[in-house]
Amino acid sequence: MRGESFRLKKPDEIAKMSHSGEILGACLEHVANHVAPGVTLNALDREADTFIRDHGCIPGFIGYDGFPKSICISVNNEVVHGIPSERAVQEGDIVSLDCGLILDGWWADSGLTVPCGTVAQEMQDLITVTQEALYRAIEVARPGAHIGDIGHTVQTYVESHGYSVVKHYVGHGIGRDMHEPPQVPNYGKPGTGNELKPGYVIAIEPMVNMGRDGVRTLDDNWTVVTQDGSWSAYAEHTVAITEDGPHVLTVRPAERSLLASRKCAVG
Ligand code: MG
Ligand code: MG
Repeated sequence: MRGESFRLKKPDEIAKMSHSGEILGACLEHVANHVAPGVTLNALDREADTFIRDHGCIPGFIGYDGFPKSICISVNNEVVHGIPSERAVQEGDIVSLDCGLILDGWWADSGLTVPCGTVAQEMQDLITVTQEALYRAIEVARPGAHIGDIGHTVQTYVESHGYSVVKHYVGHGIGRDMHEPPQVPNYGKPGTGNELKPGYVIAIEPMVNMGRDGVRTLDDNWTVVTQDGSWSAYAEHTVAITEDGPHVLTVRPAERSLLASRKCAVG
């Protein structure tokens, strides 16, 4: 894994990461509010890029391993890493937004799946279950828990709804680099993997397919799609582990009261 070797973040460093995260949460809400029938993916990318720069941050994705845009947008059967284009989203699409930024050298990484207009109930259910899987995973991410507890929580909840979790891509530690150790899979066994301690900062990001878990990458070398053509949803937050429990750094303004009612700190 690229990035600096793992080390725990100090409280003042987590405070800096919460500034990055707050701006990213606001950015994602801003972009999500622009998702509507007829809007192009490039227009959404411009909204993200402008918002990030206007808030004094650096868009993290553009140029990262050669990625050409400031946000990944993955529609319907696309899982992650979709490249914005002149494609226009349509009524009934589900649109996954994944964005990252850097402020004072500290990364934030987050995303969500947004319905475009009115979507089929089964697609709204997919989005809701994916978001809930993330929230449940966040609640277990506290000192003394293990990385495997996070994956187990995501996997059992998702599979109880008849969906599957993508195994090929995983969450990750985050800090001075977007991708730091440890890996944070969306599957696993309780009590396995690293034990979480105060100072861990991790990106938890369930990727949930309505059908089978297999994925493949398109010829653009970025866009990951489901092998079986089923639709896929995604949700991600950057979360700091503190002595008091999980602290969600990338909370979106509209999500704040909902998350505050869960077993975690926000903001
Ligand atoms: Mg991300
Ligand atoms: Mg990530």
